[in-house]
Amino acid sequence: MTDFADELAERLEASRAQGLYRELRPIASPQSPSIELEGKPLLNFSSNDYLGLATEPALKAAATEAVERYGAGAGASRLICGSLPPHRELEAAIAVFKGTEGALSFSTGYAAALGAIGALLDKDDVIVIDRLAHACIVDAARLCGAKLRVFAHNDLNGLEKILKWAASRTQSRGVAGRKSRALIVTESVFSMDGDHAPLREIADLKDQHGAWLMVDEAHATGLYGPKRRGLAEALGVSERIEIQMGTLGKAFGASGGYICGSRLLVDCLVNLARTFIFSTAPAPAAAAAAAAGVRLVQSQAGEERRRLLWQRVAEINAGLKPIHASSPTSAIIPLIIGAESQAVKAATDLRERGIFIPAIRYPSVARGQARLRLTVSAAHNSADTAQLLTALTAAGLPRAPKESPTVSRPAGAP
Ligand SMILES: *Cc1c(COP(=O)(O)O)cnc(C)c1O
Repeated sequence: MTDFADELAERLEASRAQGLYRELRPIASPQSPSIELEGKPLLNFSSNDYLGLATEPALKAAATEAVERYGAGAGASRLICGSLPPHRELEAAIAVFKGTEGALSFSTGYAAALGAIGALLDKDDVIVIDRLAHACIVDAARLCGAKLRVFAHNDLNGLEKILKWAASRTQSRGVAGRKSRALIVTESVFSMDGDHAPLREIADLKDQHGAWLMVDEAHATGLYGPKRRGLAEALGVSERIEIQMGTLGKAFGASGGYICGSRLLVDCLVNLARTFIFSTAPAPAAAAAAAAGVRLVQSQAGEERRRLLWQRVAEINAGLKPIHASSPTSAIIPLIIGAESQAVKAATDLRERGIFIPAIRYPSVARGQARLRLTVSAAHNSADTAQLLTALTAAGLPRAPKESPTVSRPAGAP
């Protein structure tokens, strides 16, 4: 046992030496603009609760009612012990909201990615992902056994080259007797940079080369498009995406994940997605809260929240110019620092000034690309954004980037 302890201690020491050590900070308050972190009141710019729904009375009431009616736990996988009303209602609500034939909910977005990709691909297939795709996509790609190819971030030429190569090897029938396939997977709004994928052009390429497309809208659902369905809606490509994915834990204010698309896709996942089949269904309260979140996003109140969010984002971007070269059209504003230890120092400095923005380091982003990841919520008010800008200025942030971050600005973005 001492060997085990010594080795773990050594590993942690190595991570500390590289400025990569992470620890949990106790928080005493719910997610909202004002939090109490490690006993200290701070203004919170760390949460993905973009529309401020995590503490919304309608969501809390839905969760409470579900606990009273259906209890605290779901008992087993839904294939084993039955499918409860909160789960069925949630999926119906997601499908209506997204305008798809069906939807399937998972315990997390992470599990949704793992389940869906694993269900659709095996070693005869090819999976093609953007270099900056979320860890759950990377892990799913590795686990599913398909040939993994990575294209440079938003690089359409690189993607096309891979698709041409893939088309030449995916025509034949594999061992299973079915046609092998290439699946492209990308985020729509990237989680650590806030920039957008060129979804129209990617959809064109997948059609030209007979591939399939899966889009993770974790940071876009609720925020973009006439019906707030996501960036795919804003760019008019929803119908061309075979597999749409998202989380219920960000703009929807609850927890869980989902895949939506055709009825056949949903039936396939119920039969083949291992994270759905072999995992206890989400707590009824989580599903009920998420369904209430989906309903709220669709309502006039949802539109008002979105309007407030973009207003706060605009205030912050206006205050950050001109040093902040990019003006990301998302609720994620990365302040690139570079060195890991410098990013941690900057975050500590800001906490001392009453502002909480987390330092994001490897492996969440590439080494030497450490940053403060500032996220904005509709729950912030203009006094909050003013206080943020004052603290950033006092801390000498943002610093002029050594090279401008890659940020694309597709038409149709807000
Ligand atoms: C947060 C996130 C997920 C995972 O969703 P969870 O519900 O938190 O598991 C997936 N993809 C992206 C891009 C994310 O940012």
